[in-house]
Amino acid sequence: MKKIQMVDLVSQYHNIKKEVDASIMNVLESAAFINGPEVKAFQKELEEYLQVKHVIPCGNGTDALQIALMALGLKPGDEVITTTFTFVATAEVIALLGLTPVLVDADPDTFTIDIEGVKNNITDKTKAIIPVHLFGQCANMEAIMQIANEHNLYVVEDNAQAIGANYTFSDGTVKKSGTIGNIGTTSFFPSKNLGAYGDGGALFTNDDELADKMRMIVNHGMKVRYYHDEIGVNSRLDSIQAAVLRIKLRKLDEYSAARNYAANYYNQAFASNPKIKTPAIGTYTDHVFHQYTLVLDESINRDELREKLAENDIPAMIYYPVPLHMQKAYKSERYSEGDFPVSEHLAKHVISLPMHTELDDEQLAYITAKMNELTQ
Ligand SMILES: *Cc1c(COP(=O)(O)O)cnc(C)c1O
Repeated sequence: MKKIQMVDLVSQYHNIKKEVDASIMNVLESAAFINGPEVKAFQKELEEYLQVKHVIPCGNGTDALQIALMALGLKPGDEVITTTFTFVATAEVIALLGLTPVLVDADPDTFTIDIEGVKNNITDKTKAIIPVHLFGQCANMEAIMQIANEHNLYVVEDNAQAIGANYTFSDGTVKKSGTIGNIGTTSFFPSKNLGAYGDGGALFTNDDELADKMRMIVNHGMKVRYYHDEIGVNSRLDSIQAAVLRIKLRKLDEYSAARNYAANYYNQAFASNPKIKTPAIGTYTDHVFHQYTLVLDESINRDELREKLAENDIPAMIYYPVPLHMQKAYKSERYSEGDFPVSEHLAKHVISLPMHTELDDEQLAYITAKMNELTQ
């Protein structure tokens, strides 16, 4: 059996090596490393794929979030609502800009931001909501957009984990994740669903004015060279990454299908295991399984299980072991342990199994049999 990896980027590369190598060589020969034609072409192709008016490539997914908040013109003291159960980047950029992160608990089934929590935390200072499409499924965007419209708030979708997912509104309209709010952001970190071979990120919007502003901000706030209209940053997608991403974008739907195949295999194998809760999916979204995350019964010792899995050459990860309100850097008088029981419970009992585009039946059979055996 092929060695099981949490994410198997080497096997994936071997399957697309010819195209990727040619594409990278092409950039080397052109020496157009920054803002070259590959970046422009990737931007256009991603706009078409997402059916969104503007894609603005940038340096990474964290920058994308920061640039989004800068473009919205938020001021120190403004409150931004987001979830406590996410990767730190979401709250990090809020704090870095002197804005106030207002944290909300997660939904116990989908792990995405709890809608009642959003409603209950709106104040006069609230300016924006950042839902995170966690692990590959969309947050409840219809409800979030409704709240945002009622209270005149911006919505920035953190789509770093769910690129390619579809959201279906109650009237039947379907939109790609990240294209529903004012701005969507994503990351092309290598292990993400659309991963480069280094860092990368992008912003999406249908708003011409915001797009204009974000294009300036990523490039030192300038439209005309050496004339700076905004305070900006230096955040670029390089041409080699764009060349790789163009190849992988063509495979994205196929990759999402491979992830769904593995997830379905896992779901079926664990369906009658009372100690394991398999992922629930919101009725309004599909799932692109950036992570396949289970909730273990409280009777299971997670550390021991992980050790035994490792002894059997099965890697497993904890996403995320500590919710943001309990992180040292984000401790505030506002919050204490016990405030967000769902996220705290998840942090203690979730476990993520290997999930990538190259898992085969032999590996899936082995992983599921061991998991069932070790959770008896
Ligand atoms: C990966 C990730 C980011 C940050 O992306 P980088 O490219 O690593 O900066 C932000 N938010 C979420 C939810 C992520 O998973």
